[in-house]
Amino acid sequence: MITPVLPTYARADLAFERGDGPYLFTDTGERYLDFGSGIAVNLLGHAHPHLVATLKAQGEKLWHVSNLFRIPGQERLAERLVAATFADTVFFTNSGAEALECTIKMVRKYQSHAGHPEKFRIITFEGAFHGRTLATIAAGGQAKYLEGFGPKVDGFDQVPFGDLAAVKAAIGPETAGILIEPIQGEGGVRAGSPEFLRALRALCDEHGLLLALDEVQTGVGRTGTLFAHERLGITPDVMAIAKGIGGGFPLGACLATERAAAGMTAGTHGSTYGGNPLAMAMGNAVLDVVLAPGFLDKVRNASLRLKQQLAMLKDEYPGVIEEVRGDGLLLGLKCRVSNTDLVNALRERHLITISAGDNVVRIIPPLTVGEAEIAEATAAIASACAALSMPKDQAA
Ligand SMILES: *Cc1c(COP(=O)(O)O)cnc(C)c1O
Repeated sequence: MITPVLPTYARADLAFERGDGPYLFTDTGERYLDFGSGIAVNLLGHAHPHLVATLKAQGEKLWHVSNLFRIPGQERLAERLVAATFADTVFFTNSGAEALECTIKMVRKYQSHAGHPEKFRIITFEGAFHGRTLATIAAGGQAKYLEGFGPKVDGFDQVPFGDLAAVKAAIGPETAGILIEPIQGEGGVRAGSPEFLRALRALCDEHGLLLALDEVQTGVGRTGTLFAHERLGITPDVMAIAKGIGGGFPLGACLATERAAAGMTAGTHGSTYGGNPLAMAMGNAVLDVVLAPGFLDKVRNASLRLKQQLAMLKDEYPGVIEEVRGDGLLLGLKCRVSNTDLVNALRERHLITISAGDNVVRIIPPLTVGEAEIAEATAAIASACAALSMPKDQAA
């Protein structure tokens, strides 16, 4: 018999009642260290005082008015994102997939508006994840997400991640742009090289294409800079964000340059909930913390410490951990054992992590993680690795 909740997730038999910073507590009071952050969403941990105070205060004032009216919180959040990034303008959504839908529509509209309606195809990459709507499963191109849902939405040409020759070969008279995650999250914390991403920027400029980045998972400080592309020395034309920007409140956004957004005039796109006062209060509260002087320095320091610990564990347990990947606090353990076995062994040790493609375990703590919690996680990972480990001489 089907469960009342549509059974599209394989869930762990575990329910949490409350959270406090990096910790989660079950209804029986058992404590777990949360290094999954609700899949990179709880950027500031659980029940962050500033977010709680903001939610309460805004909850008593105004939740929703629709986009038929000016929303001062929306104007403020957009101005702050514009001031902090390459972007000139922002559209707010309720999720990552919707931010990507806006991104995809904008890339197509740009070309159409510029007199090239025939240019609608977007080059995407193997191993990508862009969401679960009809267009975003086509953009992601993963067979397991497309299967059974009818004809794949047309207009996406997928090439191997990192393969510049394949990108060049895929550019044709109908190509409108390129869409890429600077670090593939669901795909296994796979980073594109700076040279590759810079080459994509150059190709876009050369061929009149738009470069669209999916920073839904990598954005808002997750990789140690406000956005992952900042360290690549390039800027996109359009960028989708979500996850961390709401700190746990459903919120996404599509950021764009004025040029890229030229065709997105009144009536061309919309969302009933997108950018409502409650969501905007939460987005602004997250930025209050993330943009505060020194915050990202702390993220980078925590990242160094955690990476160092994970590298030591890799050396100690080469039969379990093959490689440590990622940037900032979006880290991955490429496993020699099954990644789900390691995730389960860690959960038994009250450490929450998240599996990803390419047999990787994602380590995604809140950006506020402290030294003691990193030590606690390291001990749990060491214990799980020891339990799963083959003797060292066999592993090499
Ligand atoms: C999570 C994710 C999405 C989809 O976001 P939803 O909020 O689940 O729709 C898109 N792109 C990337 C890179 C993601 O990590």
